[in-house]
Amino acid sequence: MFSFLSSKELIGHCLCKGVKVKIDRVSLTDKSNEILVCHCSNCQRAGGGLLSYEIILPDEKVTLIDDKSLITRYDDTDTKSKNVVERYFCRQCGSPIYGKIPKNKPNITIVKLSLFTGEIDQLPCPTKEVFCAEMMKWEKKIDGAKHYDEGPE
Ligand SMILES: [Zn+2]
Ligand SMILES: [Zn+2]
Repeated sequence: MFSFLSSKELIGHCLCKGVKVKIDRVSLTDKSNEILVCHCSNCQRAGGGLLSYEIILPDEKVTLIDDKSLITRYDDTDTKSKNVVERYFCRQCGSPIYGKIPKNKPNITIVKLSLFTGEIDQLPCPTKEVFCAEMMKWEKKIDGAKHYDEGPE
């Protein structure tokens, strides 16, 4: 399991460290927070990988530290749900930071868990995998996660 350090907070950062995101450590183990893997082609393109690994948190549980105003928003309108997905990224290094879907999930921030890699021994196993229909044939679904061919309901 996790090795809890003294601080109750966990700070992640983008590749250039210009943008930081602070969450509570307990957010990662609180079962009411969904840990999502999204395999949709938009997430693949936006992230430069085959999946997006993220935690869905109420806005007030996420603190952005962006002293140089590097956060930039791209409105992703070509989505399967037809809901605009606001994709926030660091304009200095290109790292995806978080997403918002104001129409579908107001007051919710979808934080990229890759920001916290290396900051904690282990990041949590996903609870849900969505858009599995867009996975490569050679990819394996994650044991213990719920699987959906399309988006979350
Ligand atoms: Zn950056
Ligand atoms: Zn996606």
